[in-house]
Amino acid sequence: MAQQEDVFKKIVAHCKEYGFVFPSSEIYDGLGAVYDYGQNGVELKNNIKRYWWDAMVKLNENIVGIDSAIFMHPTIWKASGHVDAFNDPLIDNKDSKKRYRADVLIEEQIAKYDDKIAKEVAKAAKKFGDSFDKEKFLATSVHCQEHQAKRDALHARYAKAMNDNDLNELRQIIIDEEIVCPISGTKNWTDVRQFNLMFSTEMGSTAEGSMKIFLRPETAQGIFVNFLNVQKTGRMKIPFGIAQIGKAFRNEIVARQFIFRMREFEQMEMQFFVRPGEELKWFEHWKKVRLNWHKALGMGDENYRYHDHDKLAHYANAATDIEFRMPFGFKEVEGIHSRTNFDLSQHQKYSGKKIQYFDPELNENYVPYVIETSIGVDRMFLSILCGAYTEEVVGDNDTRVVLKLPAVLSPVKAAIMPLVKKDGLPEKAREIINDLKFDFNVQYDEKDSIGKRYRRQDAIGTPFCITVDHQTLEDGTVTIRERDTMEQERVPASELRSIIGKKTSFTELFKKLS
Ligand code: ATP
Repeated sequence: MAQQEDVFKKIVAHCKEYGFVFPSSEIYDGLGAVYDYGQNGVELKNNIKRYWWDAMVKLNENIVGIDSAIFMHPTIWKASGHVDAFNDPLIDNKDSKKRYRADVLIEEQIAKYDDKIAKEVAKAAKKFGDSFDKEKFLATSVHCQEHQAKRDALHARYAKAMNDNDLNELRQIIIDEEIVCPISGTKNWTDVRQFNLMFSTEMGSTAEGSMKIFLRPETAQGIFVNFLNVQKTGRMKIPFGIAQIGKAFRNEIVARQFIFRMREFEQMEMQFFVRPGEELKWFEHWKKVRLNWHKALGMGDENYRYHDHDKLAHYANAATDIEFRMPFGFKEVEGIHSRTNFDLSQHQKYSGKKIQYFDPELNENYVPYVIETSIGVDRMFLSILCGAYTEEVVGDNDTRVVLKLPAVLSPVKAAIMPLVKKDGLPEKAREIINDLKFDFNVQYDEKDSIGKRYRRQDAIGTPFCITVDHQTLEDGTVTIRERDTMEQERVPASELRSIIGKKTSFTELFKKLS
């Protein structure tokens, strides 16, 4: 575990050193849980957004996009339930004065029981070797059964407390489980309180005339309130979806995991409108489609899993997360929710406007049901970086840090390097760049030895390094080096577009999805 935390620290440092992510307002000592994307980060982020947007809007003829404003009428948040119920249960440790989410403390405790079971299994597997039968072991090991029973009891008690919104019981669980503050090591806890996560500000100039406005905590509501606009102007027929990418804001209580939990972040959300009664079928459909979207990037199928929700949000009748194996454990990257017709019905009620769909096949009006897929751009970014970060031993006593990013997402697709800074090689390299730059994000690099230049590109995940040498001037060939294998090949410069294109093409990736 400590080793994994070390890796995470290195990833955070790497992000800063190589222009991916900077703490916001750094020269003023930063601002809690707010981050800026640097020159490489913004490229990676844009590529992630493109992958999502095109997979939704370009590949599905019944999904269209919108871009709604961050500011919305405040009644929207009353209708959606966010004013009354968008809360996290918080608890303070009186000795360290540190604040925690009570639900997160308990979930971590549940994960500890899982870890204990996993350790028993690993120990036995080592002892019994090839003859080890995991199922049999789990069914017969007294230790495992004890851990499992404790885990299940805790889980049931926690789920009930969350569903009943019972804050005293949450505190009691923390006490009974003897959960201690990781900073002070004590069990000296305050009561559990609810904390609303929405930021607010004033709109309008005078004190009397101003209105309290919320910064949206999700982009979804901008889609719901535009349902009729899009359906009518686009002549959309159910089932259909509306997609949106945009900023969201949450005043998170605990924000200590880099860009995993931010106060300002970006979401990619798609609301899919369906006939009442068909929502669970579509829920299953989108669960599969979204997992495939993740897996198609080739970061390793074993690094993803579903996690079904114990506590359903006030609006949902089914919900699952897609989790990715981060250095600090499997964590949610995307949520898929069956939101019933809650949101549209609420907006109908609060606005007094009829928000319904006339289904020509059924010859009836209804408020559509909704399946939502909701993924954080920043969390996706973090999962990709964590999956890609690799430290490798090369040669006898050399190491390299390489970001094995899916080439299609890499910030820079190729670096063009003249072997030396003379003899017309820089000019030749510029010529190649001028030819490639219309299709790819390419970089020119002439400083330091070739070896150092390769390492710099490895560190930002550039799939190809292209070296221009004296032979290039004679026969028009260059050396192309592939990032992961480090193999080099001599090819005609005229073939570069096709070689780079093949490896970094969105089209090839999209074909895997259909
Ligand atoms: P969590 O349980 O981690 O607080 P959530 O279940 O509240 O997340 P949703 O409301 O389902 O999250 O939001 C959908 C997606 O938005 C999440 O899967 C995540 O990728 C992203 N997201 C949510 N909150 C944050 C945040 N504070 N910082 C970065 N991304 C976030």
